[in-house]
Amino acid sequence: MFRCKNALILLAGGRGSRMGSDTPKQFMMLGDKPLIWYSLNAVQNSELIDECILVSGADDISAMRDIVSRGGFDKVSGIVPGGAERYLSVVEGVTALFEKSDGCEAFEGRPEIVLIHDGARPFPDDGIFERCLNGVLETGGCVAAVPSKDTVKIADENGIVTDEPLRSSVWCMQTPQVFKAEVIKKACESVKNAISENDAGLNLKLRGITDDAMMVRLFTDTRIKLVMGDYENIKVTTPEDLIIAERIMEERRGHSS
Ligand code: C5P
Repeated sequence: MFRCKNALILLAGGRGSRMGSDTPKQFMMLGDKPLIWYSLNAVQNSELIDECILVSGADDISAMRDIVSRGGFDKVSGIVPGGAERYLSVVEGVTALFEKSDGCEAFEGRPEIVLIHDGARPFPDDGIFERCLNGVLETGGCVAAVPSKDTVKIADENGIVTDEPLRSSVWCMQTPQVFKAEVIKKACESVKNAISENDAGLNLKLRGITDDAMMVRLFTDTRIKLVMGDYENIKVTTPEDLIIAERIMEERRGHSS
């Protein structure tokens, strides 16, 4: 069966300051493995992903290389230093993916689809990858998301409510965020141009970017399709998330034994 070549950018270039720990959160232990091991393992074991670029903190590259080699994660074709903000780490990962001439030895040719995933989300699975990979073919951009369980309100800087979106139309964004190669390449090149031209208006908009779909929508007219993520596809951000992640991991281990 024909399918596109799919590459995944795995983001682990953040400091994880909201964890309140000196250890970057990708190296914090979940069970007996560092947090980043889980998403690397999911990528390695997925038949839907051909290649992975790992984006790391500049000081952590050798520690990452060690985890990759000990885990036998041979889909990782490059480990590159990230940027000061998440979207800059995405730009670094995407640039490395398309600049390198060799690629992952096992897979020839350039990727046609690029998945971007937070290394801080340890539990992606083939169900999510598959829904995103189907969705991206519809519009060129697709994000895993879950309907908001809570009512969401918009407030001004004084905490006064200014808007009340209809809950049924509110979704919480997760990753993977998945794009056709030409779409994410164009967005990343536009970010680099905006920075080098020092465009004040655009730079202000760039600072507000918190996910890849925002970046793509800023620079292209791609429509973003949402597909069902998973409430267990959590992002470990603050210490209580690690407790929830431990429960999810134990439950999944129970099911597989
Ligand atoms: O900070 P937050 O938890 O939202 O980060 C989401 C993901 O983006 C994490 O996996 C983090 O390592 C990554 N990130 C990055 N480079 C940054 C900031 C965050 O790769 N400068």
